[in-house]
Amino acid sequence: MSDFDVFLKKAGDFHGHICAGIALGTRISLAALNYLGLKPGVRNKNLIVYAEIDRCMTDAVQVITGCTLGHRSLKYVDYGKFAATFVNLETGKAVRGTVKEYFSNEDTIEKTLEKLARIPDSELVTLEEVTVKIPETDLPGTPLRKAVCAVCGERIMDGREVHDKGKILCRGCANGKYYREKK
Ligand SMILES: [Zn+2]
Ligand SMILES: [Zn+2]
Repeated sequence: MSDFDVFLKKAGDFHGHICAGIALGTRISLAALNYLGLKPGVRNKNLIVYAEIDRCMTDAVQVITGCTLGHRSLKYVDYGKFAATFVNLETGKAVRGTVKEYFSNEDTIEKTLEKLARIPDSELVTLEEVTVKIPETDLPGTPLRKAVCAVCGERIMDGREVHDKGKILCRGCANGKYYREKK
């Protein structure tokens, strides 16, 4: 079995099904890790990934890179793009992977997967070296800062507090919340 087959299966198990997004995420991740000289399928302590979409693809990225939100090694950037940037903290090298157009609406999922298994990296994935400046408060490890919101009294980690007219507020209280309390 090729690396692609092995990790496609693993990513599919985690995600619940194998689809084009899982296959793409598998290909992008394997190509990027190979470029950075890192091993797939293990937790890479020196790797941070910025995922640009909250769809199938990103589940494959998590499985293959070992980077997760809970380890602060997965960052979600809401661009709605089939792309991710992989940063090797040890070497400082970073690479952004995107997918070249390949979709054909007439293809069945089986045909698409077959294509995605065979097509060489050079025809499917674009890897571009980039630089990413990661704020210290975004790095894994012990929290550098803790605060308490003056309005709701909830704890705020990692420098996410907002200073407003001499008060320390959480982002929800400062900028409006995504939820509404039921009174
Ligand atoms: Zn899917
Ligand atoms: Zn608050």
